[in-house]
Amino acid sequence: MTPGTRGRRTPTGVIDEGAQLAEAVIDLAAIAENIRTIAAVARTGLMAVVKADGFGHGAVPVARAALGAGATWLGVTSATEALALRSAGIDAPVLSWLHRPDEDFTRLIAADVDIAVSTLTHLRAIADAATDLGVPAAVQLKADVGLSRNGANGDDWPELVAWARKHEKEGSVQVHGVWSHLTNADVPGCPSIVRQVSTFREALRIARDAGLDPEIVHLANSAAALATPETRFDLCRIGLAMYGISPFGAADPRRFGLRPAMTLRSRVINLKRVPAGTGVSYGADHVTNRPTTLALLPLGYADGLSRTAEGRAWVWLAGRRCPIVGRIAMDQCVVDVGDLPVALGDPVVVFGPGAEPGSPEPAEPTATEWAQWAGTIPHEVLTGIGARVARVHLPGEADTP
Ligand SMILES: *Cc1c(COP(=O)(O)O)cnc(C)c1O
Repeated sequence: MTPGTRGRRTPTGVIDEGAQLAEAVIDLAAIAENIRTIAAVARTGLMAVVKADGFGHGAVPVARAALGAGATWLGVTSATEALALRSAGIDAPVLSWLHRPDEDFTRLIAADVDIAVSTLTHLRAIADAATDLGVPAAVQLKADVGLSRNGANGDDWPELVAWARKHEKEGSVQVHGVWSHLTNADVPGCPSIVRQVSTFREALRIARDAGLDPEIVHLANSAAALATPETRFDLCRIGLAMYGISPFGAADPRRFGLRPAMTLRSRVINLKRVPAGTGVSYGADHVTNRPTTLALLPLGYADGLSRTAEGRAWVWLAGRRCPIVGRIAMDQCVVDVGDLPVALGDPVVVFGPGAEPGSPEPAEPTATEWAQWAGTIPHEVLTGIGARVARVHLPGEADTP
């Protein structure tokens, strides 16, 4: 799909609506507000996690909004993501945490990106790259306290720490941080949290005993930052909550004063009146039980509307919630609008901020509801929004130069 003649690039790189079948509208003021709300609860520094293109919201605009609201660090998955922030002119501290063992670490060192280190192989490659460059690499050692993903555990931790100290003395490495990630942060009170915090403290003690003096120590993600004070240390790494979604499942995000930043919207591109007994979409899984009107949305699973939400999902159209009926296809889906007065081109909201807490008024679905309908978590709904959905950024306060 090529942009039509009405699509144009604005100075901020945002493609104008008009030529687009669907838009994810990102409210950067909500991102800024959420950062302030979380900072007031956590009372630590915040790392805005902008991996996976800012959970689908656009890494660069989200990073700018978060930094403008007081976040002091940015967190990303890969060298590619870290360097994209630098290319956009963002010079705030960045931590990058997943790397090939044969990564070209000189690019990250030269760009002043902190590199998370979990294995000796990576540490050696980083120290070698730093020696070649003649500049020390800033590293943050990752301990595995029970998640069994990245990070060093068991005897590997003291060994990683000892080698890091050795490289630090030689001048090839500076250990800025020690960090880890919890298994069950979204279940406050889960006994594993207490155990893992204590394992983390022990890992920290080993690092300090070996002579390391990390400036920043961090363990908490959104859920831990909001609900479990003993996980907060110097910095909390904030993903989902910054995007305005509760990390605690169906709990109302506004329990914490969070506001969802993304609204996914489109418009009706076909309408037809059909009799009772009409099969809808592939396989005719759905058959109308009355004469009704079917509205076509140009959004499907390639755009992030999970096929597994069939039979459960709703959209906001003509001031009501209307059901998606039949199978969700790659590019389109069908909404049963009954006898509502709907016209071609009418706006449709797939998900958005939803109703105000306690409001009796119905409102559009939320990403959290879509996650329930699709049998997944909101992270997957947000990061699943496809590339052909235009991102439209509503300016936040920090965007005014
Ligand atoms: C994605 C990620 C986060 C952010 O997690 P949320 O639960 O979305 O706040 C924090 N830390 C690490 C290591 C991550 O990979």
